[in-house]
Amino acid sequence: MIFVFTKKCTALLLALCLFFCLPATASALSFADMDGDGRILAADARLVLRAAVGLTPTTAEMRNAGDVNGDGNLNPDDARAVLRLAVGLGNKDDSGLRGMDGARLIGLTSNEYRIYEKDGSTYIDGILIANKTYSLPSTYDPGDLLPECKQAFNAMCDDAWYYDDINLYEVSGFRSYATQKRIYNNYVASDGKAEADTYSARPGHSEHQSGLALDVNSLKNAFAYTAEGKWLAANCHKYGFILRYPYGKSDKTGYIYEPWHIRYVGVERATKIYNSGLCLEEYYGITSQYNY
Ligand SMILES: [Zn+2]
Repeated sequence: MIFVFTKKCTALLLALCLFFCLPATASALSFADMDGDGRILAADARLVLRAAVGLTPTTAEMRNAGDVNGDGNLNPDDARAVLRLAVGLGNKDDSGLRGMDGARLIGLTSNEYRIYEKDGSTYIDGILIANKTYSLPSTYDPGDLLPECKQAFNAMCDDAWYYDDINLYEVSGFRSYATQKRIYNNYVASDGKAEADTYSARPGHSEHQSGLALDVNSLKNAFAYTAEGKWLAANCHKYGFILRYPYGKSDKTGYIYEPWHIRYVGVERATKIYNSGLCLEEYYGITSQYNY
């Protein structure tokens, strides 16, 4: 009798476990991983398609995980995108992420680049992204320009001076979260929030916090017409930098034209972006808009 009771109890416990555990597992579904097995495979694409056409009942978490184009619905386009991810497409270049443990796939850009999150920061094409949409956590603090950025900048300054009599120098490099907070709040106090948002980043959104961006020579538009400004625009990609906020791209970058602000992305990417004539946001297919 006791034996039977125990067996029943065990069965009941198991059923209860399954009942309560399954939704818990489902709530941990990550981007494009519809069945929660930790991988993005053709089976996930099939699930998205079946859900999109109403053949498979879905939970809110499944709809969230499967809506890879972020339009709020599950449709065949999502299934197609998941299938492309499953077969290794939609990652035009993830090479920079090799060896980056713990990076989590969180989305796909409109140009089909994978968006990764690690320690609260966002990476696309292997590079750190900081703009109005993607922020850096307050704890991200390299304390200075990162070595690769510093070395590339020094090499560029040396060559500019040696070969072309061009004198380039840093006027503003790394800025911590706390420093940016102080600067931004000062601008808001004097010009108002709406105006300040066009030229100063909110704390966590400044590229200067990344340690990969710096301002060169002069913070004036006239810098673009100087020999130094022209040299920088024409040559910085050869050293791995891009003009981050180019002329006529304010609606994409979220910032006014800044001929002095350069961002290190590596020579290969910088050259591709320079040749494309696109700003970083257009090149990768991302937005730069505050969502708060
Ligand atoms: Zn700057």
